[in-house]
Amino acid sequence: MKRRDFIQILGVSGLMLSTGLACSTGSNNKLKNWVWTRGGEKNTDEELRAFFQKLKDNRIHGILPSGGNKFYERIGPILKEVGLDFHAWRWTINRGGHMKDHPEWYAVSRNGDSVVDKPPYVGYYRWLCPSRPEVQQLLIDDYTNLCKIEGLNGVHLDYVRYCDVILPIALQPKYNLVQDHEMPEFDFCYCPLCRSKFKEKHGIDPLDMEDPSKSKEWHQFRLDQLVKVVNNVADAVHQEGKKISAAVFPTPTIARKIVRQDWERFNLDSFMPMVYFKDYDGDLNWVAEVVKEDARILKGKANLYAGLHLGHVREYGIEKVVNTCIENGAQGVSIFTGHSMKDEDWQVFSKVVDQLDMNR
Ligand SMILES: [Zn+2]
Repeated sequence: MKRRDFIQILGVSGLMLSTGLACSTGSNNKLKNWVWTRGGEKNTDEELRAFFQKLKDNRIHGILPSGGNKFYERIGPILKEVGLDFHAWRWTINRGGHMKDHPEWYAVSRNGDSVVDKPPYVGYYRWLCPSRPEVQQLLIDDYTNLCKIEGLNGVHLDYVRYCDVILPIALQPKYNLVQDHEMPEFDFCYCPLCRSKFKEKHGIDPLDMEDPSKSKEWHQFRLDQLVKVVNNVADAVHQEGKKISAAVFPTPTIARKIVRQDWERFNLDSFMPMVYFKDYDGDLNWVAEVVKEDARILKGKANLYAGLHLGHVREYGIEKVVNTCIENGAQGVSIFTGHSMKDEDWQVFSKVVDQLDMNR
């Protein structure tokens, strides 16, 4: 797929944008920024507290840490004391822990290969089938259990999608691929349950279609299966009185097309779209367009925090990228990762955020 095709997917008529297209809310609401963090289990409570305080002092509102429940139980009270929001970050559909006991819960490609036997692209791609009631129950149980942890405000979903049927354009050469069409080995889920559920509704087994990638109904069916499971998890989390957020693909338009993730129908409180522009051969104008589209879609429905990959951000610098996101309607940013920010990065970041807040 060429870059112009991605631009078409975005529905962008021209990428020449003025940075003056600020979308000021006119409100006094301060920006809320987040960080994804990994590790920390081996640190002492004092070390963790010092790190969290540093985040707090540098205009971070909330933290999305990965880790096990024991770690979460340890950091919950500390985060509460420091005054950071805490959403437990856990992979949702891509989780391999049940392959031994329940291989039938896992997604099957158009070629008939299960991710259990043949993970696509990388060894850790072990996608569950979203149609399975057992999978839904597993996710509800997991996320509602997290809700009981002291100091936790919410849960954070990641890999809440199908396998990439098409990789972001800049990643394709890394796998020696030119994905100008949906290739069967990356196209999921053709497990017996999905096929029979679809046949029941539409009268045909998707494998009997001449080209299933051309079927709007089959595409829609798969979007719907994922939306349903996510919204049932969201309902359960909300019943526990907690918030739910997710790392999603840059825009719903891109997400539906390349990972079958119709996130504008997810009933979540906050979205952190991964505006990882280098994966899409994008520049600052691309960032502006993406954030603007997301802000338009989410306005009044949910919070938008632009997900920034620090490695990508360095191309233009923190100041320019953060400004672009906020000027186009994000209510803050989420940085991947909090640990990779250096002291000088924090200096720039907190200054930019303070400045933007003054102008809001
Ligand atoms: Zn399936």
